[in-house]
Amino acid sequence: MSEQKTAPGVSWRRVRQLDTNNPPSHVNISMACNHCQDPQCLLNCPAGAYTRLENGIVYQDHAKCLGCRMCTYACPYGAPQYDPVEKKVSKCSYCKERVEQGLMPRCAEACPGGNIIVGDLAELEARYQGVREIPGITPKAEVTKPSILINPAKPHKN
Ligand code: SF4
Ligand code: SF4
Repeated sequence: MSEQKTAPGVSWRRVRQLDTNNPPSHVNISMACNHCQDPQCLLNCPAGAYTRLENGIVYQDHAKCLGCRMCTYACPYGAPQYDPVEKKVSKCSYCKERVEQGLMPRCAEACPGGNIIVGDLAELEARYQGVREIPGITPKAEVTKPSILINPAKPHKN
């Protein structure tokens, strides 16, 4: 069971493995909720369960969830996860409780390769560049404006 106590089969973050032809390469993409600036989950939830917090986290109030699954159909990233036992949906909260204590999200802390880097998006973009979509592999960024940069350079050790 994860730190967030998600149910078996409910994965808030998943790693996809892809082979691309042009140029030929093997790609691993770790994706979770992207805490989008235009969150389709929030816009399509009839229960008002989602809120975009001041710090940018798109937060789901799980108690309000009716289990209608509208957010799972609306999110192009497949981030909200339906639990057929509980008959409700949940998703990555950017480890809101940890962040409020000054800690990093658990995925960023746990990645042994240091490949998940979190922080102010504008500062990360200035430092590492990166893209918000990979054509043919990830959804078009214009739909939800995800708060994510893909394939940034590794941080330099000072
Ligand atoms: S990735 Fe999906 S669930 Fe997360 S904020 Fe964007 S639209 Fe909502
Ligand atoms: S499943 Fe829950 S969170 Fe998702 S749209 Fe329905 S009520 Fe909202």
